[in-house]
Amino acid sequence: MLFNTIIFGPIKSRRLGISLGINLLPQNGKICSFDCIYCECGLNKDGREDTQMPTRQQVKENLEATLKAYKQADGEPIDTFTFAGNGEPTLHPHFAEIVLDVQKLRNSYYPDAKISVLTNAWQLDKPAVLDGLRLVDNAILKLDSAVPQTLLAMNRPVSPTFSMENLVEQLASFQGRCIIQTMFLRGAGVDNTTPTEIAAWLGALKRIQPSLVQLYSINRKVPIEGLEHVSEEELKTIAAEVKKLGIKTLVTP
Ligand code: SF4
Repeated sequence: MLFNTIIFGPIKSRRLGISLGINLLPQNGKICSFDCIYCECGLNKDGREDTQMPTRQQVKENLEATLKAYKQADGEPIDTFTFAGNGEPTLHPHFAEIVLDVQKLRNSYYPDAKISVLTNAWQLDKPAVLDGLRLVDNAILKLDSAVPQTLLAMNRPVSPTFSMENLVEQLASFQGRCIIQTMFLRGAGVDNTTPTEIAAWLGALKRIQPSLVQLYSINRKVPIEGLEHVSEEELKTIAAEVKKLGIKTLVTP
């Protein structure tokens, strides 16, 4: 499912509260540096018809218009401005500047709201991306496995130079000012819930020391057949191991 607007929602999210979405990607296509088997936006190959990202000005104008209308309609206060949408938001060439624009609008309209970015974290070596992510309240970074073959099978990074070690290194360089988000699933030759998987993942978390780990599983339509949801009980059992490291967790089945 694609988001056909620049601004979408607000939606009620268990993780983020009343969340207003900001889509920096094409409105009728998908662009991502990963091609996850569970991506709710579909596979990269099916989203190539539209490659036009909105301009910085368009994002600003659309957000301001939405906020004005929402305030006038007396909508429930927004808890979070969330960069998400049809792919990887940090691929937008003006990501950091747009974060600054969103901060200004947030301060005018909903000063108590947080700014969150859902990212696959494969751009943290780019100073502009890192600058943008350091400005936000919640940098929510993906780490689905710390076993290279599993990560490659689940996330299918587009870059041939992708390396799991570099990814974990980049996450650790965030020095704890980040949230890690992990999708657990089984099927299509992948299972990131085995004892070996969990041990490797906990090892990576020890190194990264995030402020929070969000654990979740599939609950919408996914593009690859045969993927199985992991139960809430099982997610809670895995979360208990994370808590033993002194790291907070949030399970959203
Ligand atoms: S990183 Fe996110 S947007 Fe990109 S393919 Fe994976 S789930 Fe989809």
